[in-house]
This record gives sequence, structure tokens and C-alpha cells, in this order.
Amino acid sequence: MEELALDIKIEKTSKSNLDQVDFDNIPFGKIFSDHMFLADYKDGKWQDLRIVPYGEFSMNPALSAIHYGQSIFEGLKAFRNRQNQEEVLIFRPQDNAARLNASAKRMCMPELPENIFMEGLHKLIELDKGWVPNTEGSSLYIRPFMFAADAFLGLKPSDTYTFAIITSPVGIYYSNPVKVKIEKEYSRTCHGGTGYAKVAGNYAASMYPAKLAQAEGYDQLLWTDAAEHKYIEESGTMNVMFQINDTIVTAPTMPEEDTILRSITRLSVLELLSDWGVKVEERKIPVQEIVDATKDGSLKEAFGTGTAVTIAPISHIGNDGELLEIAEVEGEKLSTKIKQHLQGMQMGEVEDNKGWIY
Ligand code: PMP
Repeated sequence: MEELALDIKIEKTSKSNLDQVDFDNIPFGKIFSDHMFLADYKDGKWQDLRIVPYGEFSMNPALSAIHYGQSIFEGLKAFRNRQNQEEVLIFRPQDNAARLNASAKRMCMPELPENIFMEGLHKLIELDKGWVPNTEGSSLYIRPFMFAADAFLGLKPSDTYTFAIITSPVGIYYSNPVKVKIEKEYSRTCHGGTGYAKVAGNYAASMYPAKLAQAEGYDQLLWTDAAEHKYIEESGTMNVMFQINDTIVTAPTMPEEDTILRSITRLSVLELLSDWGVKVEERKIPVQEIVDATKDGSLKEAFGTGTAVTIAPISHIGNDGELLEIAEVEGEKLSTKIKQHLQGMQMGEVEDNKGWIY
């Protein structure tokens, strides 16, 4: 591995909380590892790179991020190598660093040099290695984020920012196939908006419609285009794929389409499918096509792709008040094969890891 060169100050915690964690029973996103990585942007540059004990931020009530929402984040995972428990593997972190910067650009925030992201991450995980679970289906969820740090009530891009990485051991996200509702009234984003960026506000805007769907018994929404609500875009925190007969169909992301987050899991799945010779179409997906394919049985499978879930099979689709059930295919499901292969790669069990493992 290349020499790590940045000056990152490390202040270790005087009391680890690791012995209080029940790794056989981990709730998602509620437990945090001992340390966090921080960097400040001021006077036009990133400085004061440091790892400190996990703890609260103190902030000015006029903090720009709270008032005007310049706030972006990422999500990725670290796993224990099944062949060598001492080794920790991280899945495609450079892609998250690049996506963070795509989000930063859209939100008028400063880009973060990749080496700060990577070396901060490396040193943090090295220090909190004991927090990476080795129980089945578990991992260390990594949350890098950046927010505007000016104390100023004028509407303008902040001059100062904080970048942080916190980590949290997690178990399985969805244990059952999910029920999704095709959303035709509300929109998550629109053309020219911030849909392709991982911006806090996108998630805030999605909560009310998602809550309405949950009250109807759904797990998540399947977003459609804001202009006509005729084309399927993505779901919750996942991109989606449909298997129609022997072809996988998925909506395009950037640079073709600016309303959908460019899922790193989706890109990985597309590459694996192409290696396996599976036919793939990246194109607009009419809602009507999916409804018809569900009814005539040509829809073999539907599933979401995302870091939190890896692959989440979809069992039901709600459309205009009608609940459509996707019939179970006989034999091995493609989604199961993909999930096992990806998880195998992430845990060091697949030899050809395509350079995706750090
Ligand atoms: N779409 C949205 C809106 C998301 O928040 C996420 C999670 N980052 C995804 C898709 C999946 O992306 P990834 O595979 O990179 O986790």
C-alpha cells in the first residue's frame, strides 16, 4: 500500500465503549464507534485533520447548515475478511469520495481531496478496527458527511465547512422482501434539481410521502418522474432493477439522468451482470410496463440495490390503490446470486474482486 503522508493528529479515547456492544443484536445506526475523523475548511483550504473521541459538536444557533441546508453525506461499509479475521475490507471507497465531490459541487461546497477522505478513513478504521463486526450479515457502516459551518444568517454559500467521518456497527437492514408503492403525487426531486446528489434535503423531502405510504402498509416508495409520474426512478435509499423475461431493466443515472442517485451497488451489479452475459437495458421504465409485466408474469423479479441493503428483493408493488404481487420464480433467483457474489467479494471470499476492495 502507498505511504500515508498527511498529518492527521490522533487523540485516543480514555474509555472505549466496545465492551458494551451486543454484536449479535445490533440496531441500525444507533451505536457509534469510539472515534471520529474531522477536518475544517477555512481560508480556502482543508486543515486541522484530526481523529478525536466520538462526541457531541457544539454549534452556533446561526449555523448555516441548519438554516439553508448545505449538508451532504455518503454511506459505505467495512467488513472483516473471512479468510483473515485481522484484515478489514472496505468496498469501493474511492467511488464514495468521488460522489461526495459531485454532491459538493452541486451544493456550492468545497471539494475534498481524495487523499484526505481515504487517509482519514484508513486511520479511523485502523484505530476502531475492533468495531467491525464478524457476525453473519453485519458490517461497520461508515458515514462521511460535510456541512456548512458559518454562523451567518445571510443567504449565501458558507465560507467555512466541517467534514467528518463517523462509523456504526450494523446488522441486516431488511430481513424480508419489501413492499413498495408507486408514488404519483409527491416528488423527491425533478430535472435540474438535486436528485443525483447525496444531499440531506432530498431525504427530508421524502419523509412525509414515505410516512403516508407506511401508514398504508408499505415499506418504501417507488419514486416516479416529477413531470408526469409515468416513469419509475428509484426507491428510498436504493436504485431499482426489474427482470423482465431474461433482461434486467434499470433507469439511467448521471450523466443521462439527473434525478436519480448514482448507486455504487447498482454500478457493481451492472458490471457483474455484463461479466455473466446477462442482458441489461439502461433506459426509462414506464410504470405501465411494470404493471403489465407483473400481471402477465413476464416480470420475474424486482429488487433494490444500495449499500445498506446490498440487494433487497421486492415482493409487492402498489399502483393506484391496487396491490400487485410479484410471483416467486422457481429455481435460483438472479437477485440471490448477485447478493451472494457481492457479499462474497465484500468479505474477501471471491478471488476476482475487480479492484473494488480496499
Ligand atoms: N438511492 C438513494 C436515494 C440512496 O440514498 C442510496 C444510498 N446511498 C442509493 C440509491 C444506493 O446507493 P449506493 O449503492 O451507493 O449505496
